[in-house]
Order: sequence, then structure tokens, then C-alpha cells
Amino acid sequence: MFGVVPRVVWQRYHQSDQLNRIRLALRLLLIQDGNHNIIVDAGFGNAVNPTLAERVNLSDPNFNFTTALQPYQLTPEQITDVIITHLHFDHCGGVVTKKNNQWLPTFANAKIWLQREQFLWAQEPSSKDAGSFIANLTNMVAKLPGLALLQGPTNITPHVSLLCYQGHTPSQQTVLIQTEAGIAWYSADLVPTTTHLNLAWNMAYDNKPLETVEEKRQTLERAVQENWIIYFAHDAQTISGRLRRHENKFQLYDQTPAT
Ligand SMILES: [Zn+2]
Repeated sequence: MFGVVPRVVWQRYHQSDQLNRIRLALRLLLIQDGNHNIIVDAGFGNAVNPTLAERVNLSDPNFNFTTALQPYQLTPEQITDVIITHLHFDHCGGVVTKKNNQWLPTFANAKIWLQREQFLWAQEPSSKDAGSFIANLTNMVAKLPGLALLQGPTNITPHVSLLCYQGHTPSQQTVLIQTEAGIAWYSADLVPTTTHLNLAWNMAYDNKPLETVEEKRQTLERAVQENWIIYFAHDAQTISGRLRRHENKFQLYDQTPAT
């Protein structure tokens, strides 16, 4: 998760277990804008085989969207849009659900927004991020009736727009949301945890690490200037926060801790 950062440094912030695993979240967003009920990313779902689920020690292997959406008085059928940031299995597995030995779209009536370049890359990934795709899952996504392939930054609704990044994997999307509390940003795997706010802390399987550094630098500068609320897709302790400059670093404040 931290690339060139040595373990003696990262373990100050992330304790690992005896199998060298650290605790991470799979954080999704529900956005409601007018008639749109939008889900950002879909987590593992149940498309992941039991061996892999055990290897990553999934804490809630029975997660399903029917239960997860109940507190919002929504059903998966009422989801109008699903934004898939990229096709790494921990971000898209939940778009299909296995029922009675059959794979079905989880969101029967939703448009599935994905960048065309990422879709093509997933068919033939580099050896660096090949382990993050599951071929069967990519094939099932390709057959979803609602799949809508995009070319570059796009507005999904008047308040929800997509930005594209190339460092982690080609055309990863992140999501900007205009809210009454200001601009919110779902940073996906560009800034997966708060420790990744440090420009040198990047995932070892980023395809183009120096592009990640530059993309982070530019986007975090903008986040400071526009006082964005940043949502972290994988941080187990912190859901979101705002950024300020402290000397030559980005410093988080106004955090919302995970419960
Ligand atoms: Zn990823």
C-alpha cells in the first residue's frame, strides 16, 4: 500500500497482523441529487472467490446492497447510477450478485459509468496491476445492460462530475460533488488513506508512480484552495476531512472519524 516507504516508517501509522496485513476500509458513497440515487464504487460484492476473501480477511463477506440501503429507504432497483472508479476487483465486485448459482446485475435499473480506456485496459492489464483484476468479473461488467463507457471528464448530474487520472491505472475516475457544505471529493485510489496525503506515499502497484505524485500534488493544491471535503476510500479510521497547508505538507483537519 505504501510503495517505497519502508515498513519501519509505515507501521507507525498502520499496524499489521502476523500475515503482514493492515486494516483497510471499503468505503462507498451514496449521493442523492434530484431524481438520481448514485452509488460510487461497489466494493467486493460476492464475486470474489472464498480463497481470496480469506486471504484479505474480509470482515463482512455477507455484505449486500439490499441491507446496506435499507437505512436510506432505498432498494438496489432504485439506484439510477453507479460510478465505477476503476475495475480493480475491490472497487467493482458488487455490481453483480450471485443468486441461486446465477450472476445477476445488482442494480437492475442503473447506468454503470466507467471510462472506456479503463475498460479496455482491464481486458489486457500490465503485469503490474494484472493481479488487481478478475477476468470473470471484467467479463460480467462488460455484459451489464446499463454499462455506459465514457471518454474523459464528464458531468453525471448538475452537481456530480468525474475527474480522470492515469497514475494508478489508466483513466481511474474520482468524483466531485457540489453540496450545501461545500465541494466533496471521493478520491478513490489516488488518495486511499490519510497517510497517502504525503506525496511520496503511493501504492507499489501504481502503473505510473511519478504521474500519481504529480496528480496528487495538483489535486490536493486545489482541495486546499477550494476547501474540499475529501472522502478516503480505504482509510479504516477516517471517513473524510478538509486540507490545509502546513509548511510544505498537506495537513488534514475537520476529520470525520469512522465509527
Ligand atoms: Zn485500485
